[in-house]
Amino acid sequence: MRNMIVVYSDDKKLMLELLAKGRELADGLNKTLVGLSIGKSTSEREQDLIYYGADQVVSTGEDQDYVKAEEYSEILIKIINELSAEIVIIGNTKNGKEIAARTAGDMDTGCITDCSKLYLNENNEMMAERIVYGGNAVAVQSLTSSPKIYTMIPRVTDALPKDEQRKGEIIKKEVTPAVSPSKIIKVQEKKVEGANIEDAKIIIACGRGVKKKEDISLIKELADFLHGETIGCSRPISADLNWLSEDHWVGLSGHKVKPHIYVAVGISGQIQHLAGMRGSDVIVAFNKDPEAPIFKAADYGVVGDLYQALPLFIQKIKQKMG
Ligand code: FAD
Repeated sequence: MRNMIVVYSDDKKLMLELLAKGRELADGLNKTLVGLSIGKSTSEREQDLIYYGADQVVSTGEDQDYVKAEEYSEILIKIINELSAEIVIIGNTKNGKEIAARTAGDMDTGCITDCSKLYLNENNEMMAERIVYGGNAVAVQSLTSSPKIYTMIPRVTDALPKDEQRKGEIIKKEVTPAVSPSKIIKVQEKKVEGANIEDAKIIIACGRGVKKKEDISLIKELADFLHGETIGCSRPISADLNWLSEDHWVGLSGHKVKPHIYVAVGISGQIQHLAGMRGSDVIVAFNKDPEAPIFKAADYGVVGDLYQALPLFIQKIKQKMG
């Protein structure tokens, strides 16, 4: 009887989100939730996985600085087999997707990537949802093979609050993968302009309604005043016009964000943009077209020309907030 759910991500924040989702599923299916830690770890970090929802933590403590998918999937397969895990949820990062695909391939089992939703249906069966056809449809899928492997995208579940009263078991395992033929020669940190948009609490974002690159200063002015750590944009602003780097690009093929406040200025609100920001707590939209789809997603909307409405808005809130 396969009785375990294993979650793993190389992204620390996403790992906590996976633990929250894993906890919900483990409670629903009456299974044990295992948080897997591969690579360099600390006992504090392992303990944290218990505080955030795991029943057990398995730490393989590989003496490795960087993720190497072929080695990590080999470790994962050994752990899945040892634990007889039924469900494996991996963070949908670049590394995570490669690890999931390799693991599923080597185990000859099914894998669903890019899951935006994982849940139990009325028969207590695992279901997965993923956005398909460029954001125009949602596929509802389930796996018939075992173990079942999924990758879950960030910011679709909140981490549980840290509960230092939670008790759990931490198990150290020595797993040495076979020496892989590939070698990491150099790792270079990517320079991010400003703060990481995925962590920002306030995002002011601009779209094609902005006519010139210099006009982004208006968006920056509002962001600075509201202490927004960075600004966002729709795909054309980054991919087509190159006015902002892809660090700012929000949407299906860009960053997934979940700030407290998302202000969309001159963004039409096509489904592919909404896919990246619809989880925001409060959405405010500025658009001159009252029929723009962004207004359906927005909590507050201003219908008007952004070149008139935005300066007025900035002036008003400056007055109000002193
Ligand atoms: P537009 O659609 O041109 O909208 C501009 C808006 O500005 C309009 O609503 C207009 O009324 C308003 N406007 C114009 N002038 C003013 C003014 N003076 N004052 C106020 N409002 C004004 N898009 C993303 O954003 N992120 C993605 O990740 C993404 N991924 C994609 C993936 C695929 C596979 C595909 C096919 C598309 C993807 N897109 C993505 C593109 C997406 O479909 C839209 O084309 C894009 O989001 C439109 O950007 P926009 O709203 O800035 O521009």
